[in-house]
Amino acid sequence: MQRVVLVTGSSRGIGAATAIQLGKQGYSVCVNYVSSAIAANRVVTIIQSFGSKAIAIKADVSNENEVVQLFKKIDNSLGPLTHLVNNAGILLPQMLVSEMTAERINKVLTTNVTSYFLCSREAIKRMKKGGSFVNVSSAASRLGSPSEYVDYAASKGAIDTLTTGLSLEVASQNIRVNCVRPGFIYTGMHADGGEPDRIERVETSIPLQRGGKPEEVAAAIAWLLSDEASYVTGTFVDLAGGK
Ligand code: NAP
Repeated sequence: MQRVVLVTGSSRGIGAATAIQLGKQGYSVCVNYVSSAIAANRVVTIIQSFGSKAIAIKADVSNENEVVQLFKKIDNSLGPLTHLVNNAGILLPQMLVSEMTAERINKVLTTNVTSYFLCSREAIKRMKKGGSFVNVSSAASRLGSPSEYVDYAASKGAIDTLTTGLSLEVASQNIRVNCVRPGFIYTGMHADGGEPDRIERVETSIPLQRGGKPEEVAAAIAWLLSDEASYVTGTFVDLAGGK
C-alpha cells in the first residue's frame, strides 16, 4: 500500500526536514504551508528529486474549513492519507503571563492545539485500515517556559494530553499516536519569539552543550511513524539535549 503523509507546516524548519526525510523513504508527501509558497515548493522539488510524489498545499490548519479542503485535495491528488505529522506551530514574542491578552492566548491555542485536533479528526476518517500519527510537542510542556511564553508551553501541554488520550481512543483501530518533544532546535521560530540567538544564550544550560538540528528531530519522527515502531503508541520521545 502506498504510504501517503501530510506534514503540517512543512515549508520550513522541523516540518521541512521531516517532509524531506519521509520523501527520501518513498512516502508520497503533502507539504502544507500558510504563507511561504516558495519555500514549500522548494521542499516539493527536493522530494520529487528522490522519485517520490509531493505536492504543496496552502491551508491555515487552525481554520476548520481550510483543513477540510486540505484533506479533500490530498484525497484527489495523492490518495487516502495513511500517516500524519501534526507539526505546524507558532511562537509569539516573549511576554509575562500578567501582560497577555485573550487575543494572543487564543491565537497560540488555535494554531498549536485546535489544528492538531482538526487534522487528527480528518486523518482518522481516512485510516480505515490503520495508520500512524506523530504529534510535535515541545520540551516546553515539561519546562513551562517561565518569563518567555507560558502560553506556548501550555499549548504543548495540551498536545501531550491529546497524544495520551487519542492513542488510547484509536488503538483498537490499529492507529498509533506518538509524540516528539524537541527543545532548542535551530529554526526560524526563535526569531518569531523575539530572540533569534536564544539557543546561543541557553546553550551552556543544555547537558549536551548545543542546540539540535531539524534533521535530528525528523529522524525520530520518521521512526515513530514507520512500521519499525509497530508496537509503539502513546509514547513521548524527548529531543532536548538531555534537558
Ligand atoms: P518554524 O521554522 O517557525 O516553521 C513553522 C512552520 O509552521 C512553517 O512551515 C509555517 O508555514 C507553518 N505554519 C505556521 N502556522 C501555520 C498555520 N496556521 N497553518 C499551516 N502552517 C502553519 O517552526 P519549527 O521550529 O520548525 O517548529 C515546528 C514545530 O516544532 C512546532 O510545533 C514547534 O512548536 C515545535 N518545536 C520547535 C522547537 C524549536 O526549538 N524550533 C522546539 C520545540 C518544539 P509558513 O512557512 O507558510 O509560515
